[in-house]
Amino acid sequence: MHTRIQLDPGSTAVPCEQCGRPTLHVARLVREDGTPVSHTMVCTTCHPRRHRMPPRVP
Ligand SMILES: [Zn+2]
Repeated sequence: MHTRIQLDPGSTAVPCEQCGRPTLHVARLVREDGTPVSHTMVCTTCHPRRHRMPPRVP
């Protein structure tokens, strides 16, 4: 089962702790059929393109 990260275009970007740029977005993890799985935070500066795995929170 593959999941995709779908950025919410209406979400508010917040400053990223890693790169300092205000490009940290709330994103949804969705299955291929569009079923939402969970939420995650994605910085488009640190991770501009492909997402092979969802980030793991320790
Ligand atoms: Zn960043």
